Amino acid sequence: MLIMISCRQASELMSQQLDRKLSLGEKLRMHAHLLICKSCPRTLQQFEILREAGKHYAEHREATQEKELTLSDASRQRILSKLQDRQSEKPEE
Ligand SMILES: [Zn+2]
Repeated sequence: MLIMISCRQASELMSQQLDRKLSLGEKLRMHAHLLICKSCPRTLQQFEILREAGKHYAEHREATQEKELTLSDASRQRILSKLQDRQSEKPEE
């Protein structure tokens, strides 16, 4: 059976959710609380925004780092000139 948790515990779970996977029981308790609570869904929304922002930032950083790691100046030049070639050709599709 579900154990009701306090707003404080719910928001703790919401913040922990950003760092780790919650167990099924934790998730159930959090969602059960969100159903009966008027203020926590708003808190959750803020956490979601935070998480999305963090994810985008991490993805962006990863993409940039990857490019820097895998593309040497020579291959960058090669890709650039290929792109320019393609632009001067007729579209293939
Ligand atoms: Zn609450």
